[in-house]
Amino acid sequence: MARRRASNEELAGLVQGEQTDAVRRLEDRVAARVLGDLESRFAVLSQRSITAWVAAFGSVQAESGDTAALRRILSTIRGAVRRLLGPLGPRAQRELDQALTDAVLLGARQHAAFVEEATGRATRPVSGRPSRGLRRRAAAIGAAIADRRDRALAILRPSRARRWSDVQAGIGAAQSALPATRAHIATTVNEAVNEASLTAIDHQGAQKLWIAERDACVNCAAYSGMVVAADADFPAGLSWDPNQRGRGKALAAPPKHPHCRCRVTAWEEGWAPEGVPSFPDSLRREARRSIARGWSLPTESGAARIRAARELLRTGAGLPKSVEEFAALAVRAGRFTDRTVPTGP
Ligand SMILES: [Zn+2]
Repeated sequence: MARRRASNEELAGLVQGEQTDAVRRLEDRVAARVLGDLESRFAVLSQRSITAWVAAFGSVQAESGDTAALRRILSTIRGAVRRLLGPLGPRAQRELDQALTDAVLLGARQHAAFVEEATGRATRPVSGRPSRGLRRRAAAIGAAIADRRDRALAILRPSRARRWSDVQAGIGAAQSALPATRAHIATTVNEAVNEASLTAIDHQGAQKLWIAERDACVNCAAYSGMVVAADADFPAGLSWDPNQRGRGKALAAPPKHPHCRCRVTAWEEGWAPEGVPSFPDSLRREARRSIARGWSLPTESGAARIRAARELLRTGAGLPKSVEEFAALAVRAGRFTDRTVPTGP
């Protein structure tokens, strides 16, 4: 059944908006099941430990004089770290492995929806199973958590932890397993979603198109709109920031880094209607605009965004004069005052 082909803006909105949000919700559900109330239990552990330390040694500045008391406190904390992180690894492995099937299904459905919008023709999702490589990367979450637990336990030994700051570092090392788990889940779910796209692309015999997030980093923005053959990799080391060029390795598909929510989809030259810029063209233009506007996450280096904007202007942005002037102003000032992507129409 033939339908109207979606506009470039609608296609971008579908993938970068609705579909990315759905993937993020899946990540959140898995993370909630895996992490439960561990965050607050770690807060309680910190609070109780500091209370015990002050009771035993007088203040957080005081060194531990009494070895027996120190041993007691550290042994209690080590026990708590084992209790909190011990079951986390197996639980994370189990939940993430189960989530892979959901993520691959979601990716397959989303990819079919994209092709349907891009072509105006009904498309059935190509179902696949999570690959062995994907299952292996999901299972590695257990070892990553155990590693952080062991590092924490090594710090929390009487021979190493003589001051409160050491104890704090030990608890911090254990607690760092939580964001690491969150990141591992996010990366693996996004790998699964993109793996489903790759399966569908192969099936279709199409080319591969990289679609970056609207607030993608300077590296991912350099890939947005790039089209390569289905069996080729996206080249290594692209970046709008000259200082970050040449890093990383060639990739079959995103994610390029932890918390990267870029997507790969099928693309065929014939899908672009005549007389308007193709969808890949419009993605490349959008990426240049986001570099000129400084649209990015607060976690990304501001200096990198300025270097990227300077490079964009140097090589010719091909954007409206007002956008280029905005970028030039930011480069002269050495910063973008507001880096949030505007929402709404
Ligand atoms: Zn990315």
